[in-house]
Amino acid sequence: MKQPYLVFIFFGPPGSGKGTQSVVLGQKLGLPVISTGDLLRRQEAAKSPLGLKARRYTKRGQLVPNKLIHQIIAARLAKRDTAKGFILDGYPRDAAQLDDLLALVQDKYIIWLIEVKVGDKEVINRISGRRICNACGASFHVLYKPPKQAGMCDVCGKKLSIREDDKPAVVRQRLADYKATAAPLLAYGKKHKTLISINGQQTIPKVRQDIFAKIVKLIK
Ligand code: AMP
Repeated sequence: MKQPYLVFIFFGPPGSGKGTQSVVLGQKLGLPVISTGDLLRRQEAAKSPLGLKARRYTKRGQLVPNKLIHQIIAARLAKRDTAKGFILDGYPRDAAQLDDLLALVQDKYIIWLIEVKVGDKEVINRISGRRICNACGASFHVLYKPPKQAGMCDVCGKKLSIREDDKPAVVRQRLADYKATAAPLLAYGKKHKTLISINGQQTIPKVRQDIFAKIVKLIK
């Protein structure tokens, strides 16, 4: 039998920092990081037929139908850089997508689930403090990364605003959506004893250290 390769699936609530941590782990292990959100944004920017279809859903914060997600992920996983393993961020997001992933990778890979845990209250604090500049795209946080002048962008001087989907009521909905996403992933990780739970309510370097410490033991 061929040596199984490694797949890491990052999951955590919005604002948990899983995007940041997946990139750091990818650099450390030399594995590509595949984010379905990024793949979709690229297709949308290129105005491809798939991108145009996906846009109808992403602009409302709704999940893109699994048929389109399958197309995009199957094409990405067919690339040669995934041969030794890869890291997923934002996928799978439900039980059907998890089944689809398992069918795509078959038994060539061991799938590790990395859960970045952050409490609901902290998620709301983190996200409701986020401010963005619509003019240049820079992002700030009223507590963790305040702009030099309150409400104004350090980079281009324009007024900062709150993202529509960062408003507290929408964040609560996103949190509820996340819990539905997490359930099949948690169940899979528990069943196969491949669940790695990390405390995400620490500094970025400390979270990174905890992830590396647990993973080093696996890949020795
Ligand atoms: P993200 O960057 O992961 O927050 O994703 C941005 C948007 O892309 C989401 O709000 C969804 O509309 C869409 N999306 C990303 N990944 C998926 C996925 N695995 N399944 C369905 N829709 C997705």
